[in-house]
Order: sequence, then C-alpha cells, then structure tokens
Amino acid sequence: MGAPDLPNLQQHLRATVGHWIGGRHVPPAGGRAQAVYNPATGAVAREVALASADEVNAAVAAAQAAFPAWADTPPIRRARVLFKFLELLNQHRDTLAAMITSEHGKVFTDAQGEVTRGIDIVEFACGIPQLLKGDYTEQVSTGIDNWTMRQPLGVVAGITPFNFPCMVPCWMFPVAIACGNSFVLKPSERDPSPSLFMAELLKQAGLPDGVFNVVQGDKLAVDTLLSHPDVKALSFVGSTPIAQYIYETGAHHGKRVQALGGAKNHMVVMPDADIEQTVDALIGAAYGSAGERCMAISAAVLVGDVADKVVGKLAERARALKIKNGMELDAEMGPIVTRQALERIEGYIAHGESEGAKLVVDGRGYQVPGHEKGFFTGGTLFDHVTPQMKIYKEEIFGPVLVCVRVPDFASAVELVNAHEFGNGVACFTRDGNVAREFARRIQVGMVGINVPIPVPMAWHGFGGWKKSLFGDMHAYGEEGVRFYTKQKSVMQRWPESTPKGAEFVMPTAK
Ligand code: NAD
Repeated sequence: MGAPDLPNLQQHLRATVGHWIGGRHVPPAGGRAQAVYNPATGAVAREVALASADEVNAAVAAAQAAFPAWADTPPIRRARVLFKFLELLNQHRDTLAAMITSEHGKVFTDAQGEVTRGIDIVEFACGIPQLLKGDYTEQVSTGIDNWTMRQPLGVVAGITPFNFPCMVPCWMFPVAIACGNSFVLKPSERDPSPSLFMAELLKQAGLPDGVFNVVQGDKLAVDTLLSHPDVKALSFVGSTPIAQYIYETGAHHGKRVQALGGAKNHMVVMPDADIEQTVDALIGAAYGSAGERCMAISAAVLVGDVADKVVGKLAERARALKIKNGMELDAEMGPIVTRQALERIEGYIAHGESEGAKLVVDGRGYQVPGHEKGFFTGGTLFDHVTPQMKIYKEEIFGPVLVCVRVPDFASAVELVNAHEFGNGVACFTRDGNVAREFARRIQVGMVGINVPIPVPMAWHGFGGWKKSLFGDMHAYGEEGVRFYTKQKSVMQRWPESTPKGAEFVMPTAK
C-alpha cells in the first residue's frame, strides 16, 4: 500500500524551525539549535531553535500586550475565531498528520486520529461561552444581590511532550484562549513543526497577534517561563520527574499549575473476558504508536487461568505486526522517536531478561528493509513478570507489554492500586458486577470497561491520579475552564436615598 498524496506538505515545513511571536515567524537569532530527525530514516530532517531567555521574554511580552483587548473581546467573538480555526484544521488535517508522522514516527492513520482528538477540543472550546456564565442569587440580603463571574488569568503557558505534538497543545490553548487568556506554547523540541503550523492557522482564522505565541526550546525556555512574573499559570504534560519539578517550581513562584506526568497503565483481564476482543484490544493498546502513548497499556494483569489462553495469541500477533515507515498506509507500528529512546527501551528489555521475566517475543534489533538507519524496534512481550521487577515498576514508553499473572480479582485490584502511577486502566470482563466494583475501587483517574484506551471526550476532562498528575484540575473539559479562569464574587446594593449610618457588626442576612 502506498503513501498519502500531500503535494502541499513541503511548503509548510521549514529547514530551521523558529519561534512564533506577536503573530509572525521569528527566525532563530543564530543561537542554540538542535537536530530534528525523521525517525523512519534516521536522517536529520531539519533543525529547531532553542530559545534564549530574551526570546522567551519577548513572547511573554507579546502575550501580555495582547491580553487586555482579547480579555475584553466578547466571548462569542472569541469563539468565532475558534470556529474558523476549526474549519482550517479540518481542511489541513492530513498535512498536519503527515507532519506529525515525519517527526514523531507514528503511523499516518494514527496521526490522523491524533489530529481528530485535538479537533474535538477545539469544538468543545467553541462552546465555552456557555461555561463562562456566572451564578446569580437575587436578594441574598434585603436589597442585595450576589453573583459570581469567571475572568481570565492573563498570560498562561503550555509545555508539551513529544508524543502528541498536535493533540496535547490542543488540550490547552483552545480552552485558554476561549476563556480570554493569551498563550505561550513551548512544544517538544523533538517534533516542533506542527506547533508553528497551528500558529499560522490561528492567524488565518483571525486571532489577534500576540494572543498565541510559540517558543521552541529546552529547559532554559521552561525555566524562564516558570519564573516569569507575568506568566500566571502553567499547564504541563510530560514525564513524572519533570512534572513534579514544574509543579513545585511553578507553585514556588506563585503560579497556578497543572502538571500531567507519566504512566504505567494496566489492563485487567478476567477469566470470563471475550478472548479474541481482549487480544485485539491488548495488541492495539500496547503496540499502537509504538507504545509511546501516555494511555498505552503496558501491563496486562491476567486473572486465574486466562493467561494460558491469551499469552500464546498475543505472541503470535506481536510477531506479525506490520512495522514500517509510518507514511505507508498499511503500517501498524512505526519507529521510535529517537535513537536514544530506542536504546533506552532495548535496555529495559535486557534488564527484564536479567531479572528473570520470561521473554516471549524479543523485538530488539528489528530491521525494516530500505530503512536500515531508522529507529525501529519490534513488539516485545514478557510473561511471568513480578511486581518487584523494574520492567513492571517503571514506565518504559515503548512497544513492550509485560504480563503479570494473579489468582483473582481482589489481587488484580490490589496490584493496580499499589502502583505509583494512576493514569489509565482497563478491565475486560463480561460480568457487570465485576465491572462496577472495578470502576468504584480502582485508584486510577481514567477507567475503561472493555475499552482499552479510555481517553475522555473533550467535555469530560483528562487527568490521572497519584504520580500521573500534580495539581488539582484535569486538562480540558469544565476543569480546564476552571483552571484558566478565576472566580470573582460580586455583592451589589443600590442604596436607598436615606442613609442608615455605618454598620460595625459582621453583615448577616436581614
Ligand atoms: P519530557 O518530560 O521529557 O518532556 C516534556 C516537556 O518538558 C518538553 O517540552 C521538554 O522540552 C520539557 N523538558 C524536558 N526536560 C526538562 C527539564 N529538565 N526541565 C524543564 N523542562 C524540561 O517528556 P517527553 O519524553 O517529551 O514525553 C513522554 C512523557 O510524557 C512520558 O512520560 C508520558 O507518559 C508523558 N505523557 C503524559 C501524558 C499525560 O496526560 N499524563 C500525556 C502525554 C505524555
């Protein structure tokens, strides 16, 4: 099967990816830069600038200058810009998807799915005026009314990971902008192009200059945002150690922070589960996007005798995965994002073997003909993994599925609840009572019952528990609206013309 026909793709890709500040491209000022790879070929595709503190400050200044007028713009007019942006995203969906594949490596059809899930949030953001309505109580005391309103925070920043270069920024900026904030995005330096393309589309949609800015960069850019007095809130998605650092440092500087971290997502398979459906679900959820999804299933918890029915079928399917350049339309799994990440993943496989897990399928050293320098590895499957092993405890973030055998439902719940991560989890069963008990008892933020990757829809909000999220509010949905706005309460009285004199006691309802 061939590749998609995208004649306009090249015109949107730049040899050096710079910043977007105040509504225009800002080419790198000759400072630090780093290579961006095409993971399928292993070749350097382009360079990305790494912002200096001055460049980050310029982006925050542009956002700060744009904020008052944008915050004053009626919500429906802000929403109209997002409606236009939505139209443009739909029009350029495949170009954006191909850009993602060329820098991230995930297969094109999966990248299309990523863009669609980003579009979902933009659709939600178009309706945000409804959620900005305040509450009102008439006559809280004689002659006094009380109401609340939600107002934007100011300049807010987003720091995003490599694995969803379109969808994760879309968890943040459409919601923030619809609420009247201005935004500075610091995307991952590994796949920076989609962020600039979205900035161009926002401008085309009529977004005033300075409301959305992009600074490419690394720790220096992030640290500048973290300590900048004009940045009022930070949304972060990435690995747990960095999430914790962002949360603590941001809070230290008095900012509102939501920091989503890493994961080790379990799928509990009960003995009554439909075996074929379970195997399909596990294969897609463990090896889709080469396991580089924060909601990927990386641990199968096989209850009772189900392991003997499932492991052989999983092995057969893992060996048969169509692993290719993601631009080939029949590819099921593409390469890993970088050589360094590939080496980390294969290092975990070696470690798993050395700690005594049974290596059923070994994906190491996988070669794709014609792409010998690409960052490929095959699907790997371990059985008889125990909770003490490093390959069970740590996030591998690659196409490695570990199977843990447990005797019963209670041990499965106990195992999942004892893990330090709590992002997503699934339970496959045909028993409604088991499913209900699972959803109630499990200490994880997002639960799937016979749904392997339960990423909540745009209006429900996304967030894990435990070390998968630092902060109080989930991303997007109504929690996102609360995160990007602050509540103000107003009490109003229009005094009668006869003065009553000063009152010195605490006001109570009269
Ligand atoms: P990462 O933590 O390495 O990077 C995320 C962002 O932080 C990037 O923009 C990066 O430039 C920046 N960064 C990296 N090191 C930094 C440092 N020392 N100081 C300040 N900033 C720094 O994550 P990644 O490898 O890009 O993404 C994969 C990780 O993200 C996985 O752990 C995955 O589980 C997680 N993730 C979580 C979710 C979620 O919703 N919970 C979603 C997607 C990805």
